[in-house]
Amino acid sequence: MSLLFDLPATPTLSIDGKTERFPVRRIYCVGRNYAAHAREMGRDDKEPPFFFMKPADAAVDANVAVSIPYPPMTNNFHYEVELVAAIGATLDNASVEAALDGVFGYAVGLDMTRRDLQLEAREKGRPWELGKSFSKSAPIGSIKPSHSHPDSQIRLEVNGEVRQKSTTGLMLWNVAEALSFLSKYEVLLPGDILMTGTPEGVGAVNPGEVMHASIEGLAAIEVEVK
Ligand code: MN
Repeated sequence: MSLLFDLPATPTLSIDGKTERFPVRRIYCVGRNYAAHAREMGRDDKEPPFFFMKPADAAVDANVAVSIPYPPMTNNFHYEVELVAAIGATLDNASVEAALDGVFGYAVGLDMTRRDLQLEAREKGRPWELGKSFSKSAPIGSIKPSHSHPDSQIRLEVNGEVRQKSTTGLMLWNVAEALSFLSKYEVLLPGDILMTGTPEGVGAVNPGEVMHASIEGLAAIEVEVK
């Protein structure tokens, strides 16, 4: 079979202690998964989980300090620090009890957002793609292989100043529940990624600022906006 043209290489992420890399297939994101963040976005905190997606080329390997471009067509570029679950086995209509069997490992990630475009879409009842789904909008650190990750502190600093600080134990829908829910709608496959939502304290970053995102027990990431 000959292809009309070659596609860009599959984006990949680093794995703790391995030279092999994790190939990224699809990126699912949970919306408003911490009550305090749902409130700061002007929404009630008692909704079932909902999801949006980013393209695979949103993924940026942040195993070492990296920079991402300030994206076009926004004046309000926001950080959202999130626990990332990387899928390593098929999850098809998985129960909550079985869902974590499908997780290869965990990492720290940023769901970078053109907030002005997202909110405009939200108010008009339109999809969020232009606000959420763009290249290099998901810097993700090295993946730590493990089926589960304990509740732990999650934080984000901009130029050394703490902006977000919470615990993953405050997620409204934990990783197992979110994956079980999502796998009823779509078969999740190795290479898929779940970004599990951000706590309160989201805000804007500008060119020249450096974000430091961390979750206890996982490799921290440092991402500069260019
Ligand atoms: Mn998010």
